[in-house]
Amino acid sequence: MKILVINCGSSSLKYQLIDSTTEKAMAVGLCERIGIDGRLVHTKAGEEKLTFEKPLPNHEAAVQAVLTALTDQGHGVISALSEIEAVGHRVVHGGERFVGSVVIDDEVIAAIRECNDLAPLHNPANLIGIDACRKLMPGVPMVAVFDTAFHQTMPKKAYTYALPYEYYDKYKVRRYGFHGTSHSYVSRRAAEIAGLDYENSKIIVCHLGNGASISAVLNGKSIDTSMGLTPLEGLVMGTRSGDIDPAIIEFIAKKEGKSLDEIMNLLNKKSGVYGLSGVSSDFRDLEAAAMQGNERAKEATEVFVYRTAKYVGAYVAAMNGVDAIAFTAGLGENDRKIRAQICSYLGYLGVEVDAVRNDVRGKEAVISADASKVKVLAVPTNEELAIARDTVALVQK
Ligand code: AMP
Repeated sequence: MKILVINCGSSSLKYQLIDSTTEKAMAVGLCERIGIDGRLVHTKAGEEKLTFEKPLPNHEAAVQAVLTALTDQGHGVISALSEIEAVGHRVVHGGERFVGSVVIDDEVIAAIRECNDLAPLHNPANLIGIDACRKLMPGVPMVAVFDTAFHQTMPKKAYTYALPYEYYDKYKVRRYGFHGTSHSYVSRRAAEIAGLDYENSKIIVCHLGNGASISAVLNGKSIDTSMGLTPLEGLVMGTRSGDIDPAIIEFIAKKEGKSLDEIMNLLNKKSGVYGLSGVSSDFRDLEAAAMQGNERAKEATEVFVYRTAKYVGAYVAAMNGVDAIAFTAGLGENDRKIRAQICSYLGYLGVEVDAVRNDVRGKEAVISADASKVKVLAVPTNEELAIARDTVALVQK
């Protein structure tokens, strides 16, 4: 089957056309600046990237541009739209309602809309993408795959905040967790590569990208994860603070005369390693700056590494042990130094990284030494493939 995978943001739309037989992307691309001016970047597998400046006044125009690119005689990959047998949509928040992927119908759309409050920046954009695809591809089955769903197996003690209980009752204020598609895909792949029985294993997944989260996957189920009600909690990220003392919000607001909105913007967009270093949110820039003697860039990386290592320790406690630790996403897949630095805190677990095996970028690899008591792996994530697999499974049912 040929599956179109759509990840729709407020002004962007990422897509991949995946052949479910080969599990390879036939074309990948991105519509940017939707509603502003518009640009389409399209790559046919094995060919050069093409950029088209194209007016994209709304998401429907963006989806139309994608469909036109996919069927183009030159850079297209299919001869007719009818070859697209299903569409898989990434949806950020499924609340407590969605514990897995679902075929989209009017009732599902209404239920996703009910979760808008929980992800006001993301869910409305995801719905606009779904709506545009339904208009332009009537009759084609569509599936919603939620970032939160994999973590719905967390026990209550893991997802409950110690706030007055009425806020859970009234507004469902609790930990949801994100990057679920990635944690699910990577934990399963790590078990396969490490030769573990997934249903009988203890795996920690470190998804370290611009957004970063970590999960404890016990016997194939997420039992805890670092992101919370929103993707702000947990690890230090590119521009997000992760965990802080909540009283800091009032303290800075009073000292600087800032509004709640301004403080939230500061925590989401101006903090993390960017805020700490004053250099960049990108670890490649931080490393370059640190090499040139920039102390704050070095410290920012140390804070990031230390926080991640502390969470690994917490999740080992949550599972009473660990069989494998998997690194994924931009940094986890590519940055051997960060992986080695995090693992340098884990000697007490018997973790031993092999420097030669760890010298790997963007490839699946066991990076621990044979003598290591815990298998450590680099596993490139593939959320689009995971979405395509769920879509095929549900559509064929
Ligand atoms: P992501 O959000 O998963 O795309 O990850 C983005 C982050 O991954 C960037 O901030 C970089 O710091 C890091 N990253 C991406 N590629 C590389 C690379 N080749 N080497 C080191 N770090 C990388």
